[in-house]
Amino acid sequence: MAAAESSLPDSTQIIVAAITAAIIEHRLAPGAKLTEQKIAAIYGVSRTIVRQALFQLARDHLVTLEPARGAFVSQPSVEEAQQVFAVRRMLEQHLVEEFCEKAVASDFRALRAHLKQEQAVVSRVDVTGRTRLLGDFHVLMAERIGNHVLAQILSELISRCALITLMYQSSRAAQHSSDEHVNILKALEARDVAKAKALMEAHLLATESSLLYHPRTSSADLAQALGSYAA
Ligand SMILES: [Zn+2]
Repeated sequence: MAAAESSLPDSTQIIVAAITAAIIEHRLAPGAKLTEQKIAAIYGVSRTIVRQALFQLARDHLVTLEPARGAFVSQPSVEEAQQVFAVRRMLEQHLVEEFCEKAVASDFRALRAHLKQEQAVVSRVDVTGRTRLLGDFHVLMAERIGNHVLAQILSELISRCALITLMYQSSRAAQHSSDEHVNILKALEARDVAKAKALMEAHLLATESSLLYHPRTSSADLAQALGSYAA
């Protein structure tokens, strides 16, 4: 999860976390309008609090603020999507190296426990929680070795990736992703840095190549949905 700023009031953080989760779990579509008044009513808070939350989400690139129109769930461009994945690949090559160097027995146990939970969830049909658990595997690696800066940056990038896979309709099965995590962990446990790095690179490339780079139109936006038939 994108770590909310500790300087923000609790109610702001709760709204940031709730909207982030809704985007990651694909309950909120790209382009969906986020009406300040409705959100304020749902959470029983002032519009100022909601506005602070929307500003934070805009900083995380999950929300786009448009002058005089309001806030919308972001619709990342193909170029932006490719850049987000490229940055993840760079960072996670470093992550694998650092993990192999620093991990102790309890870190491997933590990852094994996480994968057990992940496998149990991906084998069920419910989508909720699945996308988040898959992303958490990567963040957990950084957290276990105490690299909180990397954990926070990765967590933000992974939220953006979830939005991207939602927008560009990934054909990739969650089971496939989780099986690759299992293989990455095996290489990490063997402290085979070269193999773990290669598997991580292939894992991220496979996720990206499963994306269909023709944006799916949001059903909430009628004009856009109808406009797509004209092309
Ligand atoms: Zn993964």
